[in-house]
Amino acid sequence: MNLKELAAHAAAEFQKKYGRPPRWIVAAPGRVNLIGEHTDYNDGFVLPMAIERYTVIAADRLTKDTKQIQLRSTCEDKPVTIDLARPLKPFPKGAWANYPAGVIAGFLALGLNPGGFDALIHSNVPLGGGLSSSAALEVATASLLEIITGKNLDPVEKALLCQKAEHDYAGMPCGIMDQFISVMGRENHLLLLDCRSRKTELVPMTDATVAVLIINTNVKHELTGSEYPARRKQCETAAKILGVPSLRDATPEALELAKGRMDEVVFRRARHVISEIERTVHAAEGVRASNWPTVGQLMYASHASLRDDYEVSCKELDIVVDIAESIGLKGGMIGCRMTGGGFGGCTVALVKSDAVEAISKKIAADYKKKTGIEATIFVSRPAGGATVIEA
Ligand code: ADP
Ligand code: MG
Repeated sequence: MNLKELAAHAAAEFQKKYGRPPRWIVAAPGRVNLIGEHTDYNDGFVLPMAIERYTVIAADRLTKDTKQIQLRSTCEDKPVTIDLARPLKPFPKGAWANYPAGVIAGFLALGLNPGGFDALIHSNVPLGGGLSSSAALEVATASLLEIITGKNLDPVEKALLCQKAEHDYAGMPCGIMDQFISVMGRENHLLLLDCRSRKTELVPMTDATVAVLIINTNVKHELTGSEYPARRKQCETAAKILGVPSLRDATPEALELAKGRMDEVVFRRARHVISEIERTVHAAEGVRASNWPTVGQLMYASHASLRDDYEVSCKELDIVVDIAESIGLKGGMIGCRMTGGGFGGCTVALVKSDAVEAISKKIAADYKKKTGIEATIFVSRPAGGATVIEA
């Protein structure tokens, strides 16, 4: 489904649920990170692109001037009501409404009150698949509130407001990548984002002979939830031992010299982050120069580092990357790695455009044979960021 069809579907669902057509329609994309994993909270670089998968919101102001916001999602049975007459606070942990509610709270904190409205959310970004349906939902909500309140936020302010919503309402202490790319994505461009200075640089990726393939393993291993905070802590520990504000400031040489002064696990965590930051900068140069074999090698190296040093991969992700390596450059496979936080979700691959079909078939078949699971595979060009479809 393309964006136009997705928007039409959201409008039709709005009509069905609320008995009138929507007045506004907005959309915000999910994203895939080409390289630069677990570098964001270490002040490093990331290199994501927006994908042609979107969260669309159709909405309309209420005819009566009430203070009730009603939110429905095509992924959820029950509507959620937010009463603006009362102080806004988070819903219980895990509630989907926390993402839009957190963004509404952010607008209220800026003195921007949208008043009551009805909204219908529809998305084709897989939920919990590591393609950032959460940021797409936040950024789409922010885009809607911009139209309703008539106040456009600065893009950086908008992304940060959405990140704060995820921290404060969804309880997820995420970095800035997902919201930045969902706001600032540009067609046929990757976004090199410096997570320290928050400076962004669009990296053109116009070579039509190369395509981005996203392979969803369709597994998500339930973890205790302590993995992410534990990794953050280990990175902080390493930085402290190295005497630097963050691992962004450390060099591979300095880390090697300090090896005897830190726990073996902390050493490996730091080695991943420091090498991944370097790889990301090099990959951006490689993309700019259309030097695909180099970019591919950096992607494989990134995966190995995440698997062995950072230990956030899983059997299924490793299987996909192994299949990719077996296809090789000759078969049109340039490079492949896990993407997102890890422990399941997706891998991202760069492939020769003319090999997309054959490679997709091969990966699907081999993955099924080895795991018994159906992978979901799709291609995406680098897409544009959040847009207003109807205002
Ligand atoms: P990811 O961002 O990788 O998709 P997250 O766990 O960060 O995974 O966010 C997924 C959560 O975001 C869902 O469990 C749900 O609560 C919320 N969410 C995202 N998109 C929607 C949607 N279209 N409708 C309702 N909830 C959504
Ligand atoms: Mg998310």
